[in-house]
Amino acid sequence: GSGTNVILATRQLTKKFGGLTAVDDVDFEVNRGEIRCLIGPNGAGKSTLLNLITGKLSPSEGDIYFDGNDLTGLDPHERIDTGLSVKFQSPHVYENLSVKRNLQVPLQRTDRNVDRVMAETLEQIALTEQADTPAGDLSHGQQQRLEIGMAITLDPELMLLDEPVAGMSVDETADVADLITSLHDDGMAFLVVEHDMEFVREISEQVTVLNQGAVFRQGPIEEIETDEAVRRIYLGE
Ligand code: ADP
Ligand code: MG
Repeated sequence: GSGTNVILATRQLTKKFGGLTAVDDVDFEVNRGEIRCLIGPNGAGKSTLLNLITGKLSPSEGDIYFDGNDLTGLDPHERIDTGLSVKFQSPHVYENLSVKRNLQVPLQRTDRNVDRVMAETLEQIALTEQADTPAGDLSHGQQQRLEIGMAITLDPELMLLDEPVAGMSVDETADVADLITSLHDDGMAFLVVEHDMEFVREISEQVTVLNQGAVFRQGPIEEIETDEAVRRIYLGE
């Protein structure tokens, strides 16, 4: 680590698609070990911001620093090797492979002890009993947990999650909240894009609101939830 409290920082980050500025001069920071939720109306630029951080998209202007190092020139795989991990909205599991074999895929990239990390991860994502089950036979919630498991085998310092509880039942959502909270207790930081405000309230202290590509508000969830201007942008007024 660089010794500062900041794990991720964007500086004057901008992404233009033709005439449209999807991310507009954003200075944004996530602290070490925190759970930060990113909210905002449709089209606010949340996914674009995440895609710039992972390297799926290149910025039009500005820089991204992770653990004090400029990520801007690195491709997505190189970014993962620095301790940045990501789980996208829809499950990207290998349906024909068992839960165990799925976890082995990312583990091949590391020099971590496969047996130990495997057992530990199965326990964390509560899929020990399903270790030999083909991923395609799991429920939606179990598949989402498996994909989070694939990301945590790499022991990332920061995990990016785009709508991790979309389409989940109340029980499945509670399981994911527990998983994130316990990983956070072990020191992992999270940046979570999420619409489900109850879930946001459950996991996050500080919330950042994006609107029209820019940071609109940032603060404790209780303040954000009761902010009249935030309510208005959601209603599109
Ligand atoms: P959010 O995730 O907050 O709903 P997005 O980041 O997906 O918002 O989109 C922000 C804006 O950028 C929207 O106006 C969207 O239509 C536009 N946009 C996103 N991706 C592209 C793209 N690949 N090409 C052109 N416009 C895009
Ligand atoms: Mg989006």
